[in-house]
Amino acid sequence: MRGGRWSSLRFPALCGVIEHPEHGVILFDTGYSPHFFEATQPFPERAYRWITPPTLAPKKTLVAQLAGLGIAANEVRHIIISHYHGDHIAGLKDFPQARFWSTHADFHALLKRSRLGNLLHGCLPALLPADFAARLEVAEETKHMPLPREFQPFDYGFDLFGDGSVAGIPLPGHSAGQLGIAFRRADGRHVFLVADAAWTRRALDEDRPPTWIASRIFDSRRDYHTTFARLRELAARRTGVAIVPSHCERTLKDWQNETY
Ligand SMILES: [Zn+2]
Repeated sequence: MRGGRWSSLRFPALCGVIEHPEHGVILFDTGYSPHFFEATQPFPERAYRWITPPTLAPKKTLVAQLAGLGIAANEVRHIIISHYHGDHIAGLKDFPQARFWSTHADFHALLKRSRLGNLLHGCLPALLPADFAARLEVAEETKHMPLPREFQPFDYGFDLFGDGSVAGIPLPGHSAGQLGIAFRRADGRHVFLVADAAWTRRALDEDRPPTWIASRIFDSRRDYHTTFARLRELAARRTGVAIVPSHCERTLKDWQNETY
């Protein structure tokens, strides 16, 4: 965070699980998985592990955590990919029955980069299943849907399933076509999963975007700051939307304690 100290920091890599009454189990990203360690075995990909060294206990893998919820890996029908960084897509190979959703912008960017270019952007194509392209659904090809006014200044999303239940929201900057999702829980709460558009809720509350050095990996710093400013505006309006960044320790604790 801008104005922060230099020190090492532990942070979670979160993903979302939605049990949808019609579309079954939907994941938002997958976090890390043992595949990450295979993909970062060779050089130069190994550098990824040095910069952000993950720890992953066997009981913390997504497959194990889903099993704890009574969900088998082959029950997962859809995985919405926020962007292609290794800490968000490392588990894709564990869900053979899932269809994937992402923006064309991000997938296209991945395809056109070299191996080194992808690494420098935090992307590890080795994490994609061999039949990935055949299972991919493109967010931009769905219809636009208006968002409830609680989400202002975000006013539209991609109607991913065609029924208005899950809106894909463009959050460009961190990656070219980063995709968040907005939906309403069964208890009526509006939820906005924002991936890496902000790293923490504190950063939004205190208007502290990442420092220049931490934003080196971003696709566009200018777009990042525009997206971040819109999220700040949403957070400041306090309309009851639960904003969930993927690496926010406080959000994880609050979610677990049901205090958020
Ligand atoms: Zn991330």
